[in-house]
Amino acid sequence: MHKIENYIGGEMVTPASGEYFDNIEPATGEAYSLIPDSDGRDVNLATDAAKLAFPAWSATPPEERFAILMRLVSLIERDLEPLALAESKDNGKPVSLARSVDIPRAAANFRFYATAAMHLANESHETFGIGGVHAINYTLRQPVGVAGCISPWNLPLYLFTWKIAPAIAAGCTVVAKPSEVTPMTAHLLSKLCIEAGLPPGVLNIVHGTGPKVGSAIVAHKDIKAISFTGGTATGEEIARVAAPMFKKLSLELGGKNPNIIFADCNYDEMLATTVRSSFSNQGEICLCGSRIFVERPHYDQFKRDFVERVSSLKVGDPNDPATDVGAIVSKQHFEKILSYVDLAKTEGGRILTGGSIASVSSSVPSVVPTATTENTDADTEIIVRKLNGYFIEPTVIEGLAHDCRTNQEEIFGPVVTIMPFDTEEEVIAHANSVRYGLAATLWTENLSRAHRISSKLESGIVWVNCWMLRDLRTPFGGVKDSGIGREGGFEALKFFTEEKNVCVRM
Ligand code: NDP
Repeated sequence: MHKIENYIGGEMVTPASGEYFDNIEPATGEAYSLIPDSDGRDVNLATDAAKLAFPAWSATPPEERFAILMRLVSLIERDLEPLALAESKDNGKPVSLARSVDIPRAAANFRFYATAAMHLANESHETFGIGGVHAINYTLRQPVGVAGCISPWNLPLYLFTWKIAPAIAAGCTVVAKPSEVTPMTAHLLSKLCIEAGLPPGVLNIVHGTGPKVGSAIVAHKDIKAISFTGGTATGEEIARVAAPMFKKLSLELGGKNPNIIFADCNYDEMLATTVRSSFSNQGEICLCGSRIFVERPHYDQFKRDFVERVSSLKVGDPNDPATDVGAIVSKQHFEKILSYVDLAKTEGGRILTGGSIASVSSSVPSVVPTATTENTDADTEIIVRKLNGYFIEPTVIEGLAHDCRTNQEEIFGPVVTIMPFDTEEEVIAHANSVRYGLAATLWTENLSRAHRISSKLESGIVWVNCWMLRDLRTPFGGVKDSGIGREGGFEALKFFTEEKNVCVRM
């Protein structure tokens, strides 16, 4: 079976333990490759390599960093197809999504920060003090040193590169850990880094579990900043360790996003987008809107049309271009989602569509010999094989109060609830009633209402009449238990640098 290896000091290396564990394909539930079971010893090695590389990399002119990162962009684009296939197999997402979103975005992350590195400028202030004192204050923005980047499984290469690209562009060196559940594209990226000529030690990737590798990164005294995306409970644990060490911390955590639909919206646009914002990537996007609030005059029509659209989504083989909803990433997560469907029923929810495990088959074209022994021609036969992985039907639930557990806790799967509302005040209060505050979606043609409600929603991002329309220059992150700090734009470059004020008296 194919062995994934750590990438340390510019080389592919085996873990110190010599041990590996299975990497499971979500569509089949079977192991298909091996992941290094790394630990603190590998993190130490990676940190030493990153420290060694830091003086030269931080002094490398931005133009040279730009050139290397742009070579990486070309290589990711060259390998778009194998990377998309690998992402789909490893995560369970439809290959069409990996091809159109995940991998292009990984290339875009490097492209964006390659160019941004050349535009990072420092401020200066001319100072006039008492008694004719005259000085110039200027700010130096210096890379923090070795940065730790830890990412989740839902958008594996997309979110991994969203951290690494600004860190490297800012002049930091990096020790990174992808999720143990989806390590494959990070592994393929390490090979591309070697091909692109990224100097050894600038990026180091250590594979393994959160408790062994992630926690060793967080606790390492020489890692000065931690950029983490994942669950809120893990974020809390990281803050507990890193905050007393005075590390810089960026935490992008969970969400329970509201999707608010007013009766005056552009209905067709809203309906099509709401299907996407509910079930893209099996609902495993931190930005998906899982609580749908519909203004009462539209509620019955919305319910009918939405349920009809959702029940026609094709749950299928991630490798099939016609598949809308692929496999859930792991058995553990699959069971968690199903337990929430059960909880919703006990809380009085009515399942309008879905709610069950989906039975999925794969149709693989195969070339088989024809019956006659004389005939050496081959006919193509379609072999149908049942996939024994983790598939759940897209599920819509109604009849639940906004404050029940199903509507308060993050499910992070293909499960949404719909609820009617009557007034703006009511829907704002219900939308804000959760501990999270990552993203909100708002559908209305009333401009004043759009501005009014956007300012009142407790959310890091508000999309009005759209969803996931991303501009990499904008600040990205959440409020409340959805995290601290912002990624994106210059915010991320600033995160990976320390500001130093120099005051020169004239
Ligand atoms: P987890 O918090 O379980 O894991 C995230 C990463 O942290 C993984 O690489 C994991 O390793 C690692 N990790 C686990 N324990 C520790 C630890 N003690 N110290 C350091 N690292 C650790 O999240 P999931 O992977 O399950 O991702 C889903 C979550 O991510 C959801 O809550 C979702 O909302 C959130 N998310 C937030 C986003 C945002 O931008 N705000 C975007 C995308 C997802 P391993 O998996 O190997 O155990």
